[in-house]
Amino acid sequence: MKKVGVLTSGGDSPGMNAAIRAAVRTAQTDEIAVVGIRRGYSGLLDEEFTDMDYSSVGGIMEKGGTVLRSSRCEEFKTEEGRARAAEILRNNQIEALIVIGGEGSLSGAKLLMEENGIPVVGIPGTIDNDIAMTDMCIGVDTCLNTCVETIQKLKDTASSHERAFVVEVMGRNSGYVALASGMAVGAEAIIVPELPVDYESIADKIWKERKRGKINCIIVVAEGAASAYTVARHVEHRIGYETRITILGHIQRGGSPTAFDRVLASRMGYASVKSLEREESGIMLALHGGKIVGVSLEKVLSHKKELDMELVEMAKILS
Ligand code: ADP
Repeated sequence: MKKVGVLTSGGDSPGMNAAIRAAVRTAQTDEIAVVGIRRGYSGLLDEEFTDMDYSSVGGIMEKGGTVLRSSRCEEFKTEEGRARAAEILRNNQIEALIVIGGEGSLSGAKLLMEENGIPVVGIPGTIDNDIAMTDMCIGVDTCLNTCVETIQKLKDTASSHERAFVVEVMGRNSGYVALASGMAVGAEAIIVPELPVDYESIADKIWKERKRGKINCIIVVAEGAASAYTVARHVEHRIGYETRITILGHIQRGGSPTAFDRVLASRMGYASVKSLEREESGIMLALHGGKIVGVSLEKVLSHKKELDMELVEMAKILS
């Protein structure tokens, strides 16, 4: 293998740069050229290519976002679009593609390989931790730390004014960020899309806490589970708690990656090149039992990441 391409696609996540850096430096060490493809699949179709080497990825690991930028691309969702992308890769002698992104981006990579025979390796980059077969995705840890830092500040002001705060975090289909950040701040209630919302028991719990003398209340809700406004209305109506709403929004996507994300991304970036050298294609790199392993994209994409119900129970007991 003489030349590979690397791109970041879909929702960005902190740590993507560390993965790019690791892939470029590993490839260069093994005398493989790397083409950075800007703006994901859109940039591939527009041939927005840039040669990358050891020094061009210097100083990017600590940066949030992705230096290659990202996009969403409708044309790549069509078979013709993907055939055109494969032709562009061949015309530029790019023999394989490393795709860093979420479930959508990995689905696109899988189809590009199946339909056109382009070897691909995926790296799971998403703050939602909603990709099956890997314990963690790149960016999740940074996102959780951002949530915890912010919610902790809200807790200070909640205590001063004896208020309840409903905090909406990311997670359209996955409650992982809500569950983990809620646990880390000792939230009174955590609402996730995987489970029905039980306002009755939430209200009971908060009421009991209040009677015990608790002067603040934090409810963390995943964006896909319920509207923060509806949750706040229920709390105000049933308990008479003065309630405020904070939607963390895109702040959760940004920021310098944590040490955990930098190391995870570096390991996956390194493994992506090594896998291609061993002619292992159609896989996603995963963290499993502390090791980085390759799992077939077929398997990853045909499974849904389940929420750990033991963690849900634990969060209820500990809050
Ligand atoms: P993420 O990768 O973060 O899940 P998206 O779901 O928006 O983000 O996907 C990013 C891009 O990947 C899309 O804009 C599209 O170009 C490509 N993509 C997503 N789903 C598919 C699919 N089923 N088939 C082909 N390409 C896809």
